[in-house]
Amino acid sequence: MNIHEYQARELFEKFGVATSQGRVAATADEAIEVARSLGDKPIVVKAQIHAGGRGKGTFTNGFKGGVHMCKNPEEAGEIAGKMLGQTLVTHQTGPEGKVVSKVLVAEAVDISRELYFAILLDRATSQPVVIASTEGGMDIEAVAEHAPEKIMREFVNPFLGLQPFQTRKLADALGLKGKQASQAGKLFTALYKLFMARDCSQIEVNPLVVTPDGQLLALDAKFNFDDNALFRQPEIVAMRDKSEEDPREVAASEFNLNYIGLDGNIACLVNGAGLAMATMDIIQYCGGKPANFLDVGGGASKEQVSAAFKIILSDPNVHGILVNIFGGIMDCNVIANGIVAAARETHLGIPLVVRLEGNNVAAGKQTLAESGLTIITGSDLADAAHKVVAAVKAA
Ligand code: GDP
Ligand code: MG
Repeated sequence: MNIHEYQARELFEKFGVATSQGRVAATADEAIEVARSLGDKPIVVKAQIHAGGRGKGTFTNGFKGGVHMCKNPEEAGEIAGKMLGQTLVTHQTGPEGKVVSKVLVAEAVDISRELYFAILLDRATSQPVVIASTEGGMDIEAVAEHAPEKIMREFVNPFLGLQPFQTRKLADALGLKGKQASQAGKLFTALYKLFMARDCSQIEVNPLVVTPDGQLLALDAKFNFDDNALFRQPEIVAMRDKSEEDPREVAASEFNLNYIGLDGNIACLVNGAGLAMATMDIIQYCGGKPANFLDVGGGASKEQVSAAFKIILSDPNVHGILVNIFGGIMDCNVIANGIVAAARETHLGIPLVVRLEGNNVAAGKQTLAESGLTIITGSDLADAAHKVVAAVKAA
């Protein structure tokens, strides 16, 4: 799960991570009001979307930049008015962009240096890893590609936590000395506490800035949370903004289905994550492109299967469906009934290939055969994958 920058700042305040002052606004008038409340200072207006790269982004109406410096509250209102309700495209949103429905209005701080600081979960070593670089600002991806030596990694033993010698080492590598080094120690420690306490899988602060008067401030924040820990993070769940998520994934989560939308045209409905991965692989191997990952789980009900089918079909790119079920616990006839119900309700008009095997398979096949629907059956996984790719190509 992701959150917006203005929500990240709420977490920063709670955990004592130094940042600039600011508040969220949903209208141009609200933006003016927030700007006035910040005092007579230059203002920065920032589009709130679940994607980075806003500074260098462009709105679909031609307006440039999702981060703007403004001289006074009136200008902040004018800029907010130009962003709100518009679609912002950045290198992280994909070409379709994201609609801006809120902006952050913050005091614009003077910047001497822009640094990069992030904490991630390193799956290879099963540890949090702190990543820092003197090359902060907007293009960390380019730094990683062209000057990887400028990116420093510090692994953290989760049982010991981030140690003072490590924060000193990081501060030193970032060129932070004296008072700034001790500020850095506090800020890094607070961020690490926040990372652990809220079950984050990523906190990225880019830029972490040094101001001309020597303050160290986190000016931008991108958070990612471990979905499997959300049951114990009510505060984070309350920050969820479903309008930012893939509507297919939101619908799937309501039915407890493990669904990830992709951009191919062959949908798959499978039981078991491993089999779902193998199914996607074999579709690709046979020359097709999977439209999704979907694991209906080991004990799916007819309603879940039916919901899964409808989610698959709500994607206009889908030109064929491959159902691949190996019933261990799963009853093949439950799947068959779910497919038949959903296919009837949605007046299915695209090729459907089904491969059923295992528990109660005879009854399942009979349900499909007696349904009167046009269903192509696959004798095994390879056969089914070949057939669905061929059927989509022919259609
Ligand atoms: P991103 O482009 O989505 O990563 O958005 P950021 O919040 O990182 O903003 C982009 C850039 O705008 C930053 O790298 C800064 O250079 C600039 N910026 C953002 N906030 C401020 C501010 O308060 N003062 C100044 N001077 N620049 C800012
Ligand atoms: Mg940034």
